[in-house]
Amino acid sequence: MNSNDPTSSLAARILSAAANQLYIDGEWVASSSGEQLESINPATGETIAHVANGNAADVDRAVAAARRALHGPWRDTTPYERQAIILKLADLVDQHFDALCLLDSMDMGAPLSRLRANSRKRALGRLRFYAGMATAIHGNTIGNSAPGKVFTYTMREPIGVVAGIIPWNAPMTSAIWKIGPVLATGCTMVLKPAEQASLSCLMLAELMAQAGVPPGVVNVVTGVGEITGAALAGHPDVNKVAFTGSHAVGQSIVRASAGNLKRVSLELGGKSPDIVFADADLDKAVPGAAMGVFGNTGQVCCAGTRLFVERKIYDEFVQRVAQFGQQLRVGNGQDPDVEIGPLVSKDQLERVLDYIDIGRREGARTISGGERMTEGNLANGYFVRPTVFGDIEDGMRIATEEIFGPVVCAIPFDTIDEVEQRANATAFGLGSGVWTRDINKAQRLSRSLHAGSVWVNCYNLMDPAVPFGGYGLSGYGREGGVEHLDEYLQTKAVWINAT
Ligand code: ADP
Repeated sequence: MNSNDPTSSLAARILSAAANQLYIDGEWVASSSGEQLESINPATGETIAHVANGNAADVDRAVAAARRALHGPWRDTTPYERQAIILKLADLVDQHFDALCLLDSMDMGAPLSRLRANSRKRALGRLRFYAGMATAIHGNTIGNSAPGKVFTYTMREPIGVVAGIIPWNAPMTSAIWKIGPVLATGCTMVLKPAEQASLSCLMLAELMAQAGVPPGVVNVVTGVGEITGAALAGHPDVNKVAFTGSHAVGQSIVRASAGNLKRVSLELGGKSPDIVFADADLDKAVPGAAMGVFGNTGQVCCAGTRLFVERKIYDEFVQRVAQFGQQLRVGNGQDPDVEIGPLVSKDQLERVLDYIDIGRREGARTISGGERMTEGNLANGYFVRPTVFGDIEDGMRIATEEIFGPVVCAIPFDTIDEVEQRANATAFGLGSGVWTRDINKAQRLSRSLHAGSVWVNCYNLMDPAVPFGGYGLSGYGREGGVEHLDEYLQTKAVWINAT
């Protein structure tokens, strides 16, 4: 990092000081655990920083700060004041954008080029969207049948102290998806980054301080899920958990929330179907379907991992997807030419390689990939070749469980009735794709697919104004769009007898 550049010098400071950096009540403090966690660059296996291993006492401190801030002057800020703070934060994120992307790339492996391209809209654009939304929160005036002149209206109030628990696959973006609605609605928050990739969240804390977010409004506590995450999910003074992560942890959060009946929103995993009909524009469908699963090394909750292909084009299409995958430049994400980075960690590498083994043992045919990459300077990183499996039975584990790696199951089908039924034969329901030139097929499947998003002739497009979330085991609640703010608000009905 160039130390003459003030934006990267901030990132350099985060890298060197992270071990003593919990951000609580507007101050950088050490964890009372005295313990640290290693941040490892998954492209090289090298330790790039240490972060504080927060514990339950740190969580208590942070929740208390968030509670005080909720009842302090923050409560009386106007929507315009909150909007101005969010816009200032967005300007600072813009100014430090490259350094934030670099921290994420070093911390979790994604290619810098991809982060720069995607996060501008998904993170920065979204922050500005929430700035606008801060002034658009309103209740209703409602007629009633009470005798006399009784006037009734609703007010939208912040839900309170939020625990934002986020994963490692898009750290800056996931953090902003929680920070934005908290600031727009007047809530307060304790943000817990994933232990694998906490650095950009710490830098965002510094930028929030510079933007004038008052002390205690957003606190950042790093640490492991079973300790800091669980302490937040069960905390009696937290009003809502906004969680993004695996469905198993999502279920444990719901159980932990029962004590004080916290509001919970869950953006969980999936096993999304991507359906290609023979009449599709295959020159678009090949890269679309391939990047729908290989993008971010498959570490995307809505990755199109069940690729249903109409039988008459199956062989040709699957070969083309396999070739596309083999031509992707895999390597260290900090290299500007790299398109696919490593998996986030050694654990994730082992998990993906295990699934590849399971697939082979279940009888799936490896069409391409299916192995770790160790050539040259990939030797110490956690790289897996983009993998295409054929000869899939619907019940196989690789066709039903979330792998979270660059592995796609290619499945032939004959009729729309058949594919509709097989695509929906999953407990998940996050993303889904349909590639066809036939508007009737597109419309029929848009209605019948059991998923929170249906992409027709595209995949994994996102926009701040468009709600995103799951059906079934993929969770509940929506992020993005007007619906997102509803998750952070509660409704009060006011009755005024004017007689
Ligand atoms: P992934 O499989 O993507 O790592 P996880 O669901 O394990 O997803 O992790 C997502 C986030 O949830 C991380 O911040 C992690 O630390 C946190 N987490 C993990 N276990 C728990 C738990 N028992 N309670 C609360 N948070 C947890």
